[in-house]
Amino acid sequence: MHAIQVKQTGGPEVLEYTEVPDPQPNHNQVLVDVVVAGVNYIDTYYRDGTYHAATPFIPGLEGTGRVAHDPQGEIAEGTMVAWDSAFGSYAEKVCVDRERLVAVPEGFSPEVAGSMLLQGMTAHYLSHGVYKLQAGSTCLITAGSGGVGLILTQMAKSLGATVYSVVSTDKKEELAYAAGADHVFRYSSSLAEQVRRYNKGRGVDVVYDGVGKDTFNESLEAVRARGTVALFGAASGPVPPFDPQLLNKHGSIFLTRPSLGAWTAEPGEFQMRAQAVVQAVSDGDLKFDISASYPLADAAQAHSDLQSRKTTGSIVLRVRED
Ligand code: NDP
Repeated sequence: MHAIQVKQTGGPEVLEYTEVPDPQPNHNQVLVDVVVAGVNYIDTYYRDGTYHAATPFIPGLEGTGRVAHDPQGEIAEGTMVAWDSAFGSYAEKVCVDRERLVAVPEGFSPEVAGSMLLQGMTAHYLSHGVYKLQAGSTCLITAGSGGVGLILTQMAKSLGATVYSVVSTDKKEELAYAAGADHVFRYSSSLAEQVRRYNKGRGVDVVYDGVGKDTFNESLEAVRARGTVALFGAASGPVPPFDPQLLNKHGSIFLTRPSLGAWTAEPGEFQMRAQAVVQAVSDGDLKFDISASYPLADAAQAHSDLQSRKTTGSIVLRVRED
């Protein structure tokens, strides 16, 4: 089969389009013919070695496609499924653990089905788990027009929260407002001060910070006393070590560095979050904005665009026509 392979970690150029043997599913897996693979920031961390994977490896964690073979004979061949947590998804075929699959309802575009789970479930655990938003809550979302950012904004609004969003360009600002943000800011060293001004002089209940190094200090400044900072990513680089006494200085704030893995680890939790996302998309309550779709062979271009802040919403790789 054709796949994207990383033989040595590094920049986008190490994503090589090549031919490799087909993967073989074990008893608890299902073999899927991939139609669309989702592209996520975490894929860049594996590619550049920030997260470890033994080389050579095929990156990618999520996608959509048709079941080619189920060793247990439970799922009919040709069933359209979507998945997350299947390492090796940038390929024509991938083995997916059966509990990480959901059926794709009629009417979903492959681009949406292939990119909805990782970002959708992340937005779900951040807004329903890490800090439970409700009517009257206030939150600040960094990278507000990115893949997670646009989905989290919509979920937060549907829960009744006030959403402050941070983006880098006019076009991104428009998208953040269209997703429901109440006010959109630009990154600056006075971000926290501006947010507090808009928030009636108070810090926000929770900051969802996927940018990391460049925004971390403003995130600590922007949260209210006893509020929560959810540092869930590092698009600008990892936050350097710091003195925990800072959490005291900012008013006994809570800091967490959450992961989707930990927030889908309880029995039934993956299905609960995945089905919540599928249902919200079906009902029209959650709209995925797929801003770019690249042929599988152009994965390097997709990573380069994502890391140079050229993309908005979700981006995908087209693997085969359906
Ligand atoms: P995005 O689509 O949000 O792309 C990243 C965005 O980050 C850019 O578009 C850019 O938006 C912003 N950004 C700010 N500074 C930089 C920088 N120096 N370099 C590059 N981008 C920058 O990606 P995802 O939605 O896939 O992921 C967003 C974050 O969430 C990532 O950090 C990712 O690792 C994390 N994540 C964490 C998960 C978890 O469970 N912990 C799960 C999923 C994602 P702008 O130009 O507006 O600033």
